[in-house]
Amino acid sequence: ENQQEKIDYVFKVVVIGDSAVGKTQILSRFTKNEFCFDSKSTIGVEFQTRSVTIKTKVIKAQIWDTAGQERYRAVTSAYYRGALGAMLVYDITKRQSFDHVARWVEELRAHADNSIVIMLVGNKADLLDHRAVPTEDALEFAEDQGLFFAETSALSGDNVDKAFFKLLEEIYGVL
Ligand code: GDP
Ligand code: MG
Repeated sequence: ENQQEKIDYVFKVVVIGDSAVGKTQILSRFTKNEFCFDSKSTIGVEFQTRSVTIKTKVIKAQIWDTAGQERYRAVTSAYYRGALGAMLVYDITKRQSFDHVARWVEELRAHADNSIVIMLVGNKADLLDHRAVPTEDALEFAEDQGLFFAETSALSGDNVDKAFFKLLEEIYGVL
């Protein structure tokens, strides 16, 4: 990437969802095009960045990963502060991770800005034989709650860029 490039906007995006759904790998796929098979669980709050061009504007996405604090209510409000977008991730093979999505939406409504754009992400879409969450269930929930929705695979890379670009475009659109 060109270091000299002029940045028009910095968008803070938070990645949330239950532990082990693939948040860190989705982030690594989007920012480095990498997938790490033996990644340790995340320690400490960290963010990664990637600059993208949307409608001639250079947007630096500053994407925050949780500190392995994915237990309900363990993520602090500082994490959400200033966030314009959220990737709310569940694992399509783990029903419980989808059942908890409503709690994560509550957390966002409580701590994040009202205008935050939320993308619901069903990850591990490569594990179709183990699917436990029908696409229609997630779509229905997303429509009810006014969320965008995508199924991704951090492993294959399927839909990861598309989901992030959609989120960033929507944020840009609501600026
Ligand atoms: P986090 O706790 O939500 O950050 O989850 P991680 O990113 O650490 O991933 C948890 C586990 O799921 C790791 O063993 C990853 O290798 C695996 N994983 C993450 N994304 C995918 C995916 O898209 N497909 C498959 N098959 N495994 C994945
Ligand atoms: Mg992690």
